Amino acid sequence: METLIGGSISKLKQLLADKAVSSNELTLSYYKHIEKHDANINAFLCLTKELSLKQADSIDHLIKSKAELPILAGIPTAIKDNLCLTNYPTTCASKILANYKSPYNATTVDNLIREGAIIVGKTNLDEFAMGSSCENSSFMTTKNPCNTDYVPGGSSGGSAASVAAGFSVIALGSDTGGSIRLPASFCGIVGLKPTYGLVSRYGLIAFASSLDQVGPMGRSVEDVIYAMQSLIGNCYHDSTNIKNPFAENLSDGNFLDVLKSSQSDKPLKNIKIGLIKELDNDGINHEIRDSIKNVIKVLTDLGASVDEVTLPQINAALPVYYIIATAEASSNLARFDGIRYGYRHKEAYSLEELYLKSREYGFGSEVKRRIILGTYCLSSGYFDAYYKKAQAVRRLLQNEIFDQLNTYDVLLSPTAPETAFKINEKTSDPLKMYLTDIATIPANLAGIPAISVPCGFDKNNMPIGFQLMGKALSEKQLLNIAYCYEMATSQKYLRQFNNN
Ligand code: GLN
Repeated sequence: METLIGGSISKLKQLLADKAVSSNELTLSYYKHIEKHDANINAFLCLTKELSLKQADSIDHLIKSKAELPILAGIPTAIKDNLCLTNYPTTCASKILANYKSPYNATTVDNLIREGAIIVGKTNLDEFAMGSSCENSSFMTTKNPCNTDYVPGGSSGGSAASVAAGFSVIALGSDTGGSIRLPASFCGIVGLKPTYGLVSRYGLIAFASSLDQVGPMGRSVEDVIYAMQSLIGNCYHDSTNIKNPFAENLSDGNFLDVLKSSQSDKPLKNIKIGLIKELDNDGINHEIRDSIKNVIKVLTDLGASVDEVTLPQINAALPVYYIIATAEASSNLARFDGIRYGYRHKEAYSLEELYLKSREYGFGSEVKRRIILGTYCLSSGYFDAYYKKAQAVRRLLQNEIFDQLNTYDVLLSPTAPETAFKINEKTSDPLKMYLTDIATIPANLAGIPAISVPCGFDKNNMPIGFQLMGKALSEKQLLNIAYCYEMATSQKYLRQFNNN
């Protein structure tokens, strides 16, 4: 039974198909592992055992009837707790939603369930996905399974920890400024932020609507490919969802092809890679820079060419993000007023007092900081100076990135300027925390896909990740390059499990 934890999707599905294990047994073995170890990690805010055992029964039924198994049949999957799951809490790790139960599924959750995934639980996050360390959760701090003195990254830290600890094979996260990729790199797993609009946002509690995207996290590129294939599909509840995204070239939307492509001698021979100069300087930890040099060596050995490119506007990415994201958040979070959803303060004697007290008690300090900042940026006297200016600079940065992507297939950088830091190391200085996202934010501002892949370890044995960004809807190419890298390095940077 032991090898079930840490098994890949293809391996587990084979075991199920061969009847070496039933979906029920597989699910229970994951719960056993969670029950033994999660008290030490704090990945889950809530477990969904009743639901998952029901789902496992239907998979076992399918196996018995010898029906073809869907892509994720029987695969234990964790869901970030800002995605709705029918009749289970969706708290966003906030006191204001502590008692909220969703009456419907997010489309992404529906898609995974349709493909046979077993939902094991809902994972911890920074409150409303605002943060880079999971320390902004109102309920608990998730710890990094590689070393529990360290943060797992954020905001999808619970999802990353779940995969890295072997509590689930894959997990869903959301990424507004790096929240899938940063925790993936801190925990030594793979995370993909899809093109804006490719994956539905319906049922994702909004943080910053022009930046938010749901995406998969997994132990290997291969597992992320299966998860990604299950996530796409038209969603008529989300007006920003791209309808028939691959209509012009259907094969661009078949990510599973990547697994079938032959790993010839030079599989990347026509690929042109741009190394982002502004993310390869003294501000980046030298062990990370050394790992990136090794990544370049592997990719060039596979036939790719690598040149340095420059994106001068990248220096404006953080300020632009913190204006646009906070402005959109202040507007999105106005709905939490104590009337319609979640927490309502008991001792309020006027409508205004009800709003004030409910929000005062319900929101944590980072969320309040951002609401205040965003409201200020949108106020009539300052709108032009901040919000409008930020949108203009966003466009300049987008144009710079698009220009480079006309010449280069993908842009390469570290995922983060440093590896995981210790719990409490940055909590007193929000600006320092914000700086961790310098490499990930540009992809959100430009709406393009980006993937983080493990590529090494620092002197404390904490994982290092590299990032590839590509043109809109170039997920298949990103996954292909990442997969070739993973094969060429014999998957040696994948999370290992000792199964006890
Ligand atoms: N760390 C960034 C922030 O705090 C990004 C968060 C995210 O992607 N959800 O806003």
